[in-house]
Amino acid sequence: MVKEHGILIDGKWIKSGSGETFESLNPANEKVIGKFQSCNNDDVNKAVNAAENVLDSWKDVPAPKRGEILLRAAQLLRKNKERLAKLMTREMGKVIAEARGDVQEAIDITEYMAGEGRRLFGHTTPSELRDKFCLGMRMPVGVFALITPWNFPIAIPSWKITPALICGNTMVFKPASDTPLCAIEFVKVLEKAGVPKGVINLVTGSGSKVGSALVKHKKIRGISFTGSREVGEFVTREAGLKKVGLELGGKNGIIIMDDADLKLATDGVIWGGYGTTGQRCTAASRIIVHEKIRSKFEKMLLNRTRKLRLGDGLKPKTDVGPLINNRAVEKTHEYTHIGLAEGAMMLCGGKPVKINGKGFFYEPTLFTNVAPDMRIAQEEIFGPYISMITVKNLDEAINVMNGITYGLSSAIYTNDIKNAFEAVERIEAGLTYVNSSTIGSEVHLPFGGIKGTGHAREAGWTGIEEFSDIKTVYFDYSGRLQKAQIDVVVGKKLKKHSE
Ligand code: NAD
Repeated sequence: MVKEHGILIDGKWIKSGSGETFESLNPANEKVIGKFQSCNNDDVNKAVNAAENVLDSWKDVPAPKRGEILLRAAQLLRKNKERLAKLMTREMGKVIAEARGDVQEAIDITEYMAGEGRRLFGHTTPSELRDKFCLGMRMPVGVFALITPWNFPIAIPSWKITPALICGNTMVFKPASDTPLCAIEFVKVLEKAGVPKGVINLVTGSGSKVGSALVKHKKIRGISFTGSREVGEFVTREAGLKKVGLELGGKNGIIIMDDADLKLATDGVIWGGYGTTGQRCTAASRIIVHEKIRSKFEKMLLNRTRKLRLGDGLKPKTDVGPLINNRAVEKTHEYTHIGLAEGAMMLCGGKPVKINGKGFFYEPTLFTNVAPDMRIAQEEIFGPYISMITVKNLDEAINVMNGITYGLSSAIYTNDIKNAFEAVERIEAGLTYVNSSTIGSEVHLPFGGIKGTGHAREAGWTGIEEFSDIKTVYFDYSGRLQKAQIDVVVGKKLKKHSE
């Protein structure tokens, strides 16, 4: 019997008025994980109204008290870490060690944001006038729509929900349709920790119906969206004057200089390119290698790539799990045809795989002789896929790195500090790693991209900025009308030059 799951509106788990459901599959064996509600406009309206109704009372709760709820949530997540990680591997496919990391990321950010309950710093600053006091203080934005992808099914929702809560917003959360169960389980933890009813509402269903209804909804004041650039552009067009944060795709590169530690670089490229089956927004899909060490590095990388074991992420020996669904297999395979047609050389991989006749697996694929303007070097593939580009020097490497429309993550392997600083200064990306891979962010630092990756900066102190507005406050205790920019003010005992 496949269980049917509800949606959460105003503290009640209910069925959608549509009467329709959809299924979530285990990508390793195609078994059905559960049935989920295909919401309609009426459900979206109810969810938004529920969030709006409790906005005033939630923002009235002192932020440190909101923080206590988050702290309880972090403790519950810790207690349930293994259960949630296993569920995540079943629903999304990533290998179990990475699924544990995903839940750990949620624990970390929930603790961090709990602490923010006792900070939520604003600024105080001097006034240009006497007997006047100025400050900037934080306010909640209002009702948020939180729309998330499937590749970090608990971590990404936690990066949005926990800062949104601590800042005093209420919200409607719409997770990706490939991982609704992870989202439901995460929200249940928050409910259990004491988030009051109506503060978080969860609706499920297609992006084109449910996501888009939220984006256009008049009562929604803020949208935090993580997903593809195409949908990000739609959100930008349709959101009107709402506060919008966008975390979109990437085409991230790693530069390997001739002075690099090649063993360390190989470890980083394998992790960056094939970790999470290449389905990270920060995945390293372009390896920009110095011509002097190209042949040696290529051999080392090929050797390691061939040894990677595909399989169910729950099996301890699996290195690379399945892709999320059959569409992703087809898309990845299409790029193999594109790369070959463009004249690149495939060193290994390039085939869809079934294990015991099932699953959405794809062989880890390595292309070399890739030109920087080929489509496999420009477009986000989101599969276990690496394209090697050879360059003559650092200047050319940085130009190749920057010659894309995205700007999320980047890395350089070098033992020359001059190379490292030049790369850090010139690379156009939201993240640059020196002697480490493109993946592996920490929750107390800002995360996000530039150019076609969008403009959001989630996590860390900037996570608070995403989910709050600033009110500027002036207290004038002079007892007279003082005019900024017009009155001339000097110290009480000082004289102006003209006097
Ligand atoms: P997607 O854009 O297809 O879907 C993301 C979410 O948007 C889903 O919940 C989906 O249902 C919803 N959606 C779809 N159409 C919509 C519409 N018209 N209006 C509103 N919502 C809509 O992306 P995906 O396939 O789930 O995720 C993969 C993409 O996410 C990749 O491009 C990846 O790089 C990106 N991503 C970016 C980051 C980052 O932080 N920059 C992190 C993870 C993933």
